[in-house]
Amino acid sequence: MIKYKTAEEIEIMREAALVVSRTLGEIAKVIGPGVTGKELDILAEDYIRSQGAVPGFKGLYDCPSTVLVSVNDQVVHGLPSDIPFKEGDVVSVDCGAVWKEYYGDHAYTFQIGEVKPEVKQLLKVTLECLYLGIEEAKAGNRIGDIGFAIQQHAEKHGYGVVRDLVGHGLGRTLHEEPQVPNYGRRGRGKKIQDGLTIAIEPMINMGTEKVVQLDDNWTIVTEDGMPSAHFEHDIAVVNGKPEILSTFQYVEEALANKS
Ligand code: MG
Ligand code: MG
Repeated sequence: MIKYKTAEEIEIMREAALVVSRTLGEIAKVIGPGVTGKELDILAEDYIRSQGAVPGFKGLYDCPSTVLVSVNDQVVHGLPSDIPFKEGDVVSVDCGAVWKEYYGDHAYTFQIGEVKPEVKQLLKVTLECLYLGIEEAKAGNRIGDIGFAIQQHAEKHGYGVVRDLVGHGLGRTLHEEPQVPNYGRRGRGKKIQDGLTIAIEPMINMGTEKVVQLDDNWTIVTEDGMPSAHFEHDIAVVNGKPEILSTFQYVEEALANKS
């Protein structure tokens, strides 16, 4: 059953999302060559707690960390490690926070130093996929329209759209109904209406769409070892239109100040 949210609930969810947005902004300030995922994890937990919120992933499904850090061919669910990032890496940082009992959940893929042009292009197209998907999250459309838009754009560029992991409803629990696949058919799936709150999160691979899980039972990697990108926003449908509750503004400001 989909739990549609009231205007009051959506305002709390916006605050929850913004805790995560600011956390990603703090990460953007420091991420670079030589930095480790474990360092980002400590930073994220400290920052979230300093805001009076609680890490959203840590302890949920036995997740050991506040952020999930997925490097290069790691698609999502990478566990923070002591291995320093190096020039040319791409690092997806996915973060969750609970604020007044509601979840925020969003992710950004960072470039470490100078990244190969074809990898840059993968990130650019994945970000475009995210916003094209969001545009479809409007009243009268169906969930399949979101996935259709994402899949069309990714496949136009020859990329693989991950099937095994999907976006999701968001609220008092991290994963609610409906599932929001990054692939789909126009006019299929649940109808979109006011009060729907979802996380849209394209996971786009440079090569095959196929993924495998590592022995740590967490990390998802591409089957062919090619890079993957992941961006995620939290959305509420308000007055028939998609409203983005999260923002990359803090990330973008931090990255602009570093360059
Ligand atoms: Mg999510
Ligand atoms: Mg996430």
